[in-house]
Amino acid sequence: MEERTYTVKALTDIWTGDADGKPHRLITIGLLGSIRWWFEVLVRGLGGSACDPTRDGIRCPDHRVADPTKPGHHCVVCELFGCTGWARKFRFEVLDENGKPQQNQIKANQCFQLRFTPLRAISEKEWALLDLTLRLITEYGAIGGKTVYKPTEESHRQSVQRHQDFGLVKLVPHQRLYACTDHELRTFVSQQQWRSLNHGSFGWASAQNFWCVSGRHLSREDADHSSFNRVLGREESKSCLDCGQVHDPPQRCGKTNRLPRRRSEQNPTGNLEKWLAGGRAESKKVFSFKNPESARRTFGFVQSTDKLDEMRQRLKKNAWDNLGDNEFVTGGDILRRLLGEGGNR
Ligand SMILES: [Zn+2]
Ligand SMILES: [Zn+2]
Repeated sequence: MEERTYTVKALTDIWTGDADGKPHRLITIGLLGSIRWWFEVLVRGLGGSACDPTRDGIRCPDHRVADPTKPGHHCVVCELFGCTGWARKFRFEVLDENGKPQQNQIKANQCFQLRFTPLRAISEKEWALLDLTLRLITEYGAIGGKTVYKPTEESHRQSVQRHQDFGLVKLVPHQRLYACTDHELRTFVSQQQWRSLNHGSFGWASAQNFWCVSGRHLSREDADHSSFNRVLGREESKSCLDCGQVHDPPQRCGKTNRLPRRRSEQNPTGNLEKWLAGGRAESKKVFSFKNPESARRTFGFVQSTDKLDEMRQRLKKNAWDNLGDNEFVTGGDILRRLLGEGGNR
């Protein structure tokens, strides 16, 4: 069984955990976790079911099915990526340009390789889904951790880590060996064999609910203005709730001598805004990257496809008044585009 190696160029640094500990292991786990997350997004977008492996009671296997080869034991994503009782079908390696295991954090402009070596038979449809996932990540999304930091226009804050962009990558063109049609993939992810489940609160993470605007970013313009916060529905001002001043980290508030309570960090009140802004346990639903300019992008998710147009208008109203209708690309368009590029054999 032949391995499949993707050559990738990092356009920004990639965040895969803190420098202490075992960087190599963190890089491998971090990137594989991220690839799996986008693979789930793709499967849901094609009408299939994908469990959320981070949630107790939801992750596969379904304990009512004891035999992992029987229908309903695990979802189509776990079929490839594995779950308790069913091993991952491939070995995953992150290699540097020389083919050696990547030992340190991947930095901007570095080329590296993602290698998938089959340990058991991987079907043509599974390879095609993996291939699509990597193209979705590289062309429209981001990989690794800390992909959610906000860009800033404030020059004295540019170098602060929480405003740096992480996770933009470019796929070095390769021949597509595993092209399948939209119909073939939809049929495959909907097979009776796979566990089907109600996506409930994580159903938003579907390619159908995805949108992307290339070449534009959201950011904080100054202490009182932030297009990012306008879109999320958070207050724009960074000023302190206790004294009204702006304290940049690590400053404490002179009045309370505590870490500042910023207006902009208070939870929004509207339901949609709460959902978009996320919280401690919930992801934000809008992500924006400023650098490099060639890969600048903003993407996000809505709760259901009928909310896509509202999102487009929200971006137009709060951030980009000259946003052209064709600049706002929906997940449905992206799937058609990605599948169209290689769908015909
Ligand atoms: Zn699963
Ligand atoms: Zn204060």
